[in-house]
Amino acid sequence: MTDRSPVPQVRATVHGWPRQGPSRELKKAVEGYWAGRVTAEELHRIAAGLRRAAWRWLADAGVGEVPTGDFSLYDHVLDAVVMTGAIPARHRRAFDADPLDGYFAMARGTDAAAPLEMTKWFDTNYHYLVPELGPDTVFTADPRGPVGQLREAVSLGHAARPVLVGPVTFLLLAKPAPGAPAGFAPLSLLDRLLPVYAELLADLRAAGATWVQLDEPALVQDQPRAVLDEVARAYRALTALTDRPKLLVASYFDRLGEALPVLARSAVEGLALDFTGPAAANLDALAAVGGLPGKRLVAGVVDGRNVWINDLERSLTTLGTLLGLAERVDVAPSCSLLHVPLDLAAERSLDPLVTRWLAFARQKAAEVVTLARGLGGEAMAPRLAANRAALASRSASGLTRDPEVRARCAAITPEQARRPQPFAERSIAQQARLGLPALPTTTIGSFPQTRELRLARADLRAGRIDSAAYDARIREEIRDCVAFQEKAGLDVLVHGEPERSDMVQYFAEQLTGFLATRHGWVQSYGTRYVRPPILAGDVSRPAPMTVPWTSYAQSLTERPVKGMLTGPVTLLAWSFVRDDQPRAETARQVALALRDEVADLEAAGTAVVQVDEPALRETLPLRAAARPGYLAWATEAFRLATSGVRADTQIHTHMCYAEFGDILDAVDALDADVISLEAARSGMRIADELAAAGYPRAVGPGVYDIHAPRVPDERELTDLIDRALIAVPAHRLWINPDCGLKTRSWAEAGPALERMAAAARRVRENLPARD
Ligand code: GLN
Ligand code: ZN
Repeated sequence: MTDRSPVPQVRATVHGWPRQGPSRELKKAVEGYWAGRVTAEELHRIAAGLRRAAWRWLADAGVGEVPTGDFSLYDHVLDAVVMTGAIPARHRRAFDADPLDGYFAMARGTDAAAPLEMTKWFDTNYHYLVPELGPDTVFTADPRGPVGQLREAVSLGHAARPVLVGPVTFLLLAKPAPGAPAGFAPLSLLDRLLPVYAELLADLRAAGATWVQLDEPALVQDQPRAVLDEVARAYRALTALTDRPKLLVASYFDRLGEALPVLARSAVEGLALDFTGPAAANLDALAAVGGLPGKRLVAGVVDGRNVWINDLERSLTTLGTLLGLAERVDVAPSCSLLHVPLDLAAERSLDPLVTRWLAFARQKAAEVVTLARGLGGEAMAPRLAANRAALASRSASGLTRDPEVRARCAAITPEQARRPQPFAERSIAQQARLGLPALPTTTIGSFPQTRELRLARADLRAGRIDSAAYDARIREEIRDCVAFQEKAGLDVLVHGEPERSDMVQYFAEQLTGFLATRHGWVQSYGTRYVRPPILAGDVSRPAPMTVPWTSYAQSLTERPVKGMLTGPVTLLAWSFVRDDQPRAETARQVALALRDEVADLEAAGTAVVQVDEPALRETLPLRAAARPGYLAWATEAFRLATSGVRADTQIHTHMCYAEFGDILDAVDALDADVISLEAARSGMRIADELAAAGYPRAVGPGVYDIHAPRVPDERELTDLIDRALIAVPAHRLWINPDCGLKTRSWAEAGPALERMAAAARRVRENLPARD
């Protein structure tokens, strides 16, 4: 900034916007199309209407350049598959016949062709479809999507910036197509892909784009030199094009690290960086590379993936520093606002005190506009004063700070996070108490959530039945569930979780510190939206949460009934977590609350308690340097929740996936007596990995895949059990499905479990006698 231009031109922008519409119109339209109730024309019209309304809202709010191409009927990575012509061979014919149906076929599969695999978008709770690329992949530019959206925005009079998944990230997110040779790396296709991006850029330029944003979030992960060299090469090639818009390369979710000098030295005209949380390290790194002379910097100073108001003063300080480091600075959220709900104004039932502390997508857009104006020299005093007051009311509130919880956390001793007896001793005590056969059978917790159950919950909410009637209904369900398990001959029973519609929400509703929203929907994948609770304040447990249901189930049977809880890491991972203290601290509070529940279950006679941690692996930080710190607090929180029990109380845990290679030590550090895992789809590989790592405790690798509707036959089950027995000795092997059964029907789950129990009995009979 020079003296001659005291008021820099600063603009506000966003990387992306929630797609669903104010009342989830998109979900209804897409599902309506699938069901044949909505025509393709209507669907396109509704989608265009949602885009139009979103752009209009943003422009009216003062956002200077609206994004296009961030909108998607299902997923933006699937859109990139279409845009680059990388349609998997098995979907080609359907796609060519009808691009819309072919698109949904790739997302959801058909009788003839499996869908693309779905996986988590970095460390968010959004899931994308994984491109499949092989040596035979032929890329061809299909500009219809991105150019079409840009034209719409331009024709409505907007200054628009198309946003595309960048070429390097696209290849790094892809997996080798079926049949690709071993070791095939999709990144090796870069030279074939770049001409396609060149064509798309030219088309976008012709359609009126001055700038195009290429999203390269994969560069915030640790990338080897070879990949960084490819980044340099890719952007050398793209910037050398003559017919192209200016390029803005965007990164988010963490710091750019080693990729920063590479991009800073490249000829791209702009970079978008995240300056929130651990990514704040971008600030020093930027100064260290000498800034971005001649370039545009889009500064992500407003957290785009959490729901708290921004500290405007702090952001202005950051932005003030950044002004000296680039030719032009624009203000933005750290990432697409797809990860937060649309509008706080829709939440009329939240405590107004708390509402002051929150910002959803619309409020965040308003924040970046305010910051841009403030940076441009507009008077800010009243806004800053209001912001300061809101932040102060948050830190002083009794909701955020409960002295009792704080005192208890401060007094935690290392012994509390450690079971007093080693596993060997515990397992003898547990066996003496439980008297289980070899290869004991159990389930992961939930049983089918039937339509009647959902109706009963809706009736309760609507006041059509009272809570006594609802409870009676749940008890009936538990009775059926226990009776079924006894008849099937399972060894460790569960109550079936009929009272829970969601394993996080159920606990969030009963713990202090958590808030529920009415309309806070966030896209999880495709047309699936979730409403994560907001973890706003200190956490405690006013009353037992699960004891009555578990005890009731136990009163119906002589066999042990397993208590079922969701673990501290998962409760955090699937909520919007307070950002005013380290997560480790929040996790400890949640762990103590769960510890109380575990103690009450034990006191009520429960001999087995399972604490689910499906989110342990998925919350792993993107950068390796941050992982040990995370795993240390995450595993400590689990142990804090579970170590207050007697030696003869058995602690189980469950995780939903088979990719554990990189966190085996953490799995071990949980010190759970029994762990159940997904294994059927990967042919028991996880059992081998655990065995190879010398895992010393009991393991239940899932013997059937609950995600598919098919019922396995007994032979398949005995084969998988025999396979598991190669890795895990019989006295440490449990037999269970891959995951909970709540999405299955009784017609599927019933026979499957009967066969599983029968298969376990058969294998058991043939075990060599042990001394
Ligand atoms: N106990 C839960 C259930 O069975 C576990 C689900 C999960 O880990 N995702 O539904
Ligand atoms: Zn699971």
